[in-house]
Amino acid sequence: MTPSIAKLTFVLLAIGWYAIRFEHARRSRRLPVRHNARDVRENTLLLISLSGLGILPLLYIATAFPRFADYPFRPVQAWLGVAFAVAALVLFQMTHRALGRNWSVTLELRQDHKLITSGIYRKIRHPMYTAFWLWAIAQACLLPNWVAGFAGIVGFGTLFFGRVGREEQMMLETFGDDYRQYMSKTYRVIPLIF
Ligand code: SAH
Repeated sequence: MTPSIAKLTFVLLAIGWYAIRFEHARRSRRLPVRHNARDVRENTLLLISLSGLGILPLLYIATAFPRFADYPFRPVQAWLGVAFAVAALVLFQMTHRALGRNWSVTLELRQDHKLITSGIYRKIRHPMYTAFWLWAIAQACLLPNWVAGFAGIVGFGTLFFGRVGREEQMMLETFGDDYRQYMSKTYRVIPLIF
């Protein structure tokens, strides 16, 4: 394991992620949106998350900026990053498959939106966000730079904590008791813990 292979792993993670999302986004975009809670706050959160998970780490890989925040590379840490990256991709694919067309990049509901409570959604309410957390942890392990490495945790963390309550509120308003019951039987992102 070398720093270059670790960086390449991050780039492959980003490409794999995009490939999975592109396919599903294309299909769900065909269904009209019937409820849209997207606003300035939601767009800002999306931008912060994109900067932390994508723009900053890719800038670091391309230019080594910001060099002052580098710390020594440790192969074991990078191998751990590879494991988290693989887990993130597998989980991301599973969540997209389970949600099917009932997906949107933001707080939206589509026509005939169905509440998904099976498969990977049986025990966790936000497994796609779990996959994003895994990406953020993989990034911190793969990039030995305090800024570029941890930007994902900070960036996605901001989106997650700023959005998850509103998303659940939107689901409660739409699906009522079905979602309330579903909430009582599930964890948010990590089974048995949170
Ligand atoms: N929070 C989920 C989904 C993220 S995508 C996860 O982490 O897995 C965000 C959109 O998915 C929301 O706008 C909502 O429309 C939809 N959504 C969230 N949970 C859902 C569920 N259990 N069933 C169907 N759609 C859901």
